[in-house]
Amino acid sequence: MQSQTKRIKVFAPATVANLSCGFDVLGCCLDTVGDEMIISLSSEPGVRITKIEGADLPIETDKNVAGVAVKALLEIYEKEIGVNIEIYKNIKAGSGIGSSAASSAGAVWAVNHLLDNPFSPHKLVEFAMEGEKLASGNAHADNVAPALLGGFTLVRSYDPLDVIKLHTPKDLVMTVIHPQIEVKTSDARSVIKQKVTLKQAIHQWGNLGGLVSGLFTEDYDLIGRSLEDVIIEPMRSILIPEFNNVKNAAIQNGALGCGISGSGPSIFALSKGMDTAKKVADAIREVYATTGLDFDIHISKINSAGIKILE
Ligand code: ADP
Repeated sequence: MQSQTKRIKVFAPATVANLSCGFDVLGCCLDTVGDEMIISLSSEPGVRITKIEGADLPIETDKNVAGVAVKALLEIYEKEIGVNIEIYKNIKAGSGIGSSAASSAGAVWAVNHLLDNPFSPHKLVEFAMEGEKLASGNAHADNVAPALLGGFTLVRSYDPLDVIKLHTPKDLVMTVIHPQIEVKTSDARSVIKQKVTLKQAIHQWGNLGGLVSGLFTEDYDLIGRSLEDVIIEPMRSILIPEFNNVKNAAIQNGALGCGISGSGPSIFALSKGMDTAKKVADAIREVYATTGLDFDIHISKINSAGIKILE
């Protein structure tokens, strides 16, 4: 039986992917940064984007990640239904905090809810990945998985897809700075060398194991020691003004670790406790104030629920 609720308003959260040592496999979900979406079922078959506010994004269903993700869901759902999507953007596209993922994940989650949850959250990740494929040419899950499952997630395998929800230590707080410069995902990808040495790989998977273990045991020192990226960050950080100064300021002010959020230009710092996260925000604000560039700073607890119903 279908739910009585034919319309739903959801919070579609921003996410931080990679988390230093987990390129393309780790991500986590933010609590206070995100978009809002209103999704309604309609008797007129088809998927329509009926409104977009807050960003200049394509309204055509096949060019908008939300439309593409919902179409992927409806292809598997047996009955023919109609879906209308309104998107209220707060997360700027190309910011590196999962703007497209929020729309893809929020849309499929809301449609699934309105249909009385025929699909598991893990299945929704697959549909949302179709949106990511449209945005970046690559069906990656490191943003859509934490948006849909909440907390920290690990993509253990892409083929077959195997996504694992990790534990969220309660005192972790994220500080994110988004410098308003454009780093094209294609540029961020093109600076990455396709080969790593065995020495680098050993270093990196040691850190990845350490970070996962630190999350489960709530060992904040271990989390801090493990938030290190010897492969991607040295290549990509050159695209982000003041990256090293921001990182030094964050660590000096008590952050457990600091790195590039997704493919940048946003930079994240993880701290234990809100007070430290605020101190870190002040310190990196001071660094960026010298650049003359516009920027936003977000401070957020980790959201272990993921997408939330607003109305
Ligand atoms: P971010 O770096 O924040 O993760 P993305 O790489 O996720 O940004 O995606 C941005 C790209 O996706 C842009 O080219 C944008 O035009 C496209 N796009 C299509 N639909 C949407 C949408 N609903 N929300 C955000 N971006 C979208």
